[in-house]
Amino acid sequence: MKEKDMKFGTKAIHAGVAPDEATGAIMTPIYQTSTYVQDGVGNHKGYAYSRSKNPTRDALEKNIAAIENGKFGACFGSGMAAIDCVLKMFKPGDEIISTNDLYGGSFRIFKTVFENYGLKFHFVDMQDAANIQNYINENTKLIWVESPTNPMMNIIDIEACARIAKNHNALLAVDNTFATPYLQNPLDLGADIVMHSVTKYLGGHSDVVMGALVSNDEAIAKEIYRIQNSSGAVTAPMDSFLALRGIKTLHLRMQRHCENGRKVAQFLKSHPKVDKVYWPGFEDHPNHEVAKSQMRDFGGMISFSIVGNQLEDAFAFLKKTNVFALAESLGGVESLMGHPATMTHAAIPKEEREKSGVVDSLIRLSVGIEDAEDLVADLAQALR
Ligand SMILES: *Cc1c(COP(=O)(O)O)cnc(C)c1O
Repeated sequence: MKEKDMKFGTKAIHAGVAPDEATGAIMTPIYQTSTYVQDGVGNHKGYAYSRSKNPTRDALEKNIAAIENGKFGACFGSGMAAIDCVLKMFKPGDEIISTNDLYGGSFRIFKTVFENYGLKFHFVDMQDAANIQNYINENTKLIWVESPTNPMMNIIDIEACARIAKNHNALLAVDNTFATPYLQNPLDLGADIVMHSVTKYLGGHSDVVMGALVSNDEAIAKEIYRIQNSSGAVTAPMDSFLALRGIKTLHLRMQRHCENGRKVAQFLKSHPKVDKVYWPGFEDHPNHEVAKSQMRDFGGMISFSIVGNQLEDAFAFLKKTNVFALAESLGGVESLMGHPATMTHAAIPKEEREKSGVVDSLIRLSVGIEDAEDLVADLAQALR
C-alpha cells in the first residue's frame, strides 16, 4: 500500500519506517554514530556525517512529513530551533506578520533575537484574517500563524490566511503544535510550512525536546535543509527513536485527549467558581465554526479563569491538585497545568498579555489520557 493511500493511524505507525535491512529489526535502530565509512572518497551509502543525515532521524523526518500530508520533513533539537530555521530564511528588511496571541518563546525569539538581525515583526489579532491586510507591504515575506492559540484557544482561519499570503507572494507558516496533524493539516489548507514542537503531543510522553518543519515545496525544503545542516541544531538518534515510538500511538492518544478535554471543559463551564472557559469545542466559542471546518475535533487544551480574578486564588488552586501537575509544557499522557502569566508568557509585557486575555487568574490545562472521572474529581476538590 502506498503511503499516500494510508489512513492516519496506519501512516503514524508505518510511514517512513521499514525493517532494518542488515538485521530485520522491526523497530528503527538507534544509529548512534556521528560518521559513516566510505569505500573511496565520496563513495558512501547516502550517509556521510550525522549533522547532515542520520538514518534514525531520516525515518522520523519522513514519518512526520507523511502524517502532515507533506513531502519534506526536517527535525531539530527543539521547537525553538525549528522556528529559528524558518526565520533564517529571511534577510534584513524583511517583514513578518504574526498572531498576537502567541507562544511566549516565539514572541521572545522574534523580538529579542531576530529583530537584532533586521527582521521586522507585526503582532496582529488574526481572528479576523482581514486585519492582516493592514500590515502588508512590499517587504512582507512571511505570515506566522498559531491555531489554536496559546493560551487563549482562539482559532485562526488558516485558509483565509493562505489566500492573503498567496496574493502578496508571502509564505504562510503554521505552528501546529496544539492541534497536531491528527486534528489539523495546515498544508492541505494552503500553508507553505508547518512547524511542530515535537516535545508536546507528537513525542507525547514528556521525555524528549524536539522540533520539526514540514513542507511540500521543493525550493522551501532545500532552504530548510541548507539551514538545518549549516546551523546544525539537529536532533539526536536516541531522541529520534523516542519520537518515532511516540508517534505510533498519536491517533489513540489524541482520541482520548479529545474525549477527556470535552468532559473537563463541560465540567469547568458549569462550575460556580470558574469565570471563563476557553475551549474551541463550545458552540458559543467565538471561532467555533472555523474550528469545526478546519479541525477534526477540539483537543485537550483548555484555559479557564477563576471568579474574582485574583493571583492568590490561581496560586492556591495550583497547589491543591493531586493528579494535574504544575509544570511547563503540554501534550504528554499525564495531565499538566500551567499559569501562563508567570510561566509560559512571562516574557510578554503585562499590558500586552492582558490585552489578549492572559489575566492573573488564568490557568491552562493540558488534559492527559488518564480516566476522565479522576481528572474531574481532582479539579472539583481543588476548586472547593
Ligand atoms: C513548546 C512550544 C514551542 C517551542 O517548542 P520547544 O520544543 O519547547 O522548543 C513552540 N510553539 C508552541 C505552540 C509550543 O507549545
